[in-house]
Amino acid sequence: MKVTRIAHSDRLNPGKYAALAEQARRLGQVRSAVWQRHGSVAGAGLTDRQVRDRWLADGTHQRFQVLANAWEETVRDAMTNIAANRAAAKVAVREAIRRHTSDPAEQKRLFTLLRADRWAEDRYLARQMRKHRKRGKNHTHDQIVVRADQHNTRADKHGRLWLAIPSLHLRRLVKIPLNTTVAPTGTLRLVLRDGRVEIHYQIDPAAMPTSQRPCGTSTVGVDKGYTEALTDSDGVHHGTGLGALLTAESDRIKERNRRRATLRSIANSAATRGNFAKSERIRRHNLGTAKRDRQAAKHRARVRTEIFTAVHAVVDKASTVVAEDLTKTFAGRKPLGKDMNRRLAGWTKGVTAEALKNVSERRGSVLVHVNAAYTSQVCSGCGAFGDRSGDRLHCTVCGVVWQADVNAAINVLQRHGDPDTTLHTPYRAVKQILQARANRHRTRLPVQDSSQAPAGRRANYPNRSVTSGK
Ligand SMILES: [Zn+2]
Repeated sequence: MKVTRIAHSDRLNPGKYAALAEQARRLGQVRSAVWQRHGSVAGAGLTDRQVRDRWLADGTHQRFQVLANAWEETVRDAMTNIAANRAAAKVAVREAIRRHTSDPAEQKRLFTLLRADRWAEDRYLARQMRKHRKRGKNHTHDQIVVRADQHNTRADKHGRLWLAIPSLHLRRLVKIPLNTTVAPTGTLRLVLRDGRVEIHYQIDPAAMPTSQRPCGTSTVGVDKGYTEALTDSDGVHHGTGLGALLTAESDRIKERNRRRATLRSIANSAATRGNFAKSERIRRHNLGTAKRDRQAAKHRARVRTEIFTAVHAVVDKASTVVAEDLTKTFAGRKPLGKDMNRRLAGWTKGVTAEALKNVSERRGSVLVHVNAAYTSQVCSGCGAFGDRSGDRLHCTVCGVVWQADVNAAINVLQRHGDPDTTLHTPYRAVKQILQARANRHRTRLPVQDSSQAPAGRRANYPNRSVTSGK
């Protein structure tokens, strides 16, 4: 399975951007022409090569004033879109056929015609195809598709990457400065947006360097934190820069919102006074969203890197990672509301879940989800409920003061193979089990049967949710 990666350009100089936009506009006309001529129901059955040959024969291509490689690649792309559009319609028509007739022979006849793109021969099929086909029309006027052998990437002496692609003129290249250190490869789709270029391309994740790095050999429990991305059951913190990143971003957003509120009130009062030019100017230049969205994207990318790096560090030593299922949301929990810190932290939970799953799959470790109820509240040494104060957990029974997140990670690890507390044991039942165990521990009652064996002896109980990678 290939995955799409997107590289971004830095801001281009306006002349360069205008030239690319003009190229994309002309290629948009190519797309429209393909849809117009070959996107209809009747236009089925041609390959992109046949379309190209027809255009070359009748001179259609000349009116677009773009280079041969550019329009040919665009024809191919548009024909792929048309084929996808047709395939989607066929799915709907197959459903319709099943409702239309229950006679197996008639169904088979219609399915066969449909599969062979010969629906025009049957009036019912032709009508259904017209009905389920979204009206074919091109809406894309901001993209340039560049074939793999038509572009190259070079680093300048400052280490900055420049992507060179063909312009509207033969042998003249447009050089685009990238804000990434990884050169895009294969067929590129350039999307023009707000003075910048997004470069979409596909990679094979199995060929990525990280998938070659083997996982470790031990079993490690992890606790998701806020100042650190993860704390493991060996007491090591990973992704220690996360808290600072989130706080800085939250402060920045609050300050920005404050300034925007001021500007908005200035704009409003200007409008009340009748100075619409000023009000409009402020709205246009100071209250736009392009810069805001860009900064948000940059922040998200930094946080993702921090979290993925943390997960890789855990998988470096673990063949089995035991964690709370972070994709689950607790019912009855207060909504995250306006508090920016909590909103950002809520989002990082999803990223951590994604990182744990993806990295495990790529590097061959096993991700085990366990029930994490009360793991941050009980002492991992004796099982008693402790007193939490700040980032410490004090056990009044055995007297240990734990670092709360380390204690939680150890508890998570011990839930792996705990026969009483399975992934779906309700919250209240978990509490009862924990209290019963703590009482037994305190009164030193002899252990009665195997189900009361201390948690943490890892045995092969079938009560875990396991995600394993191939
Ligand atoms: Zn204790």
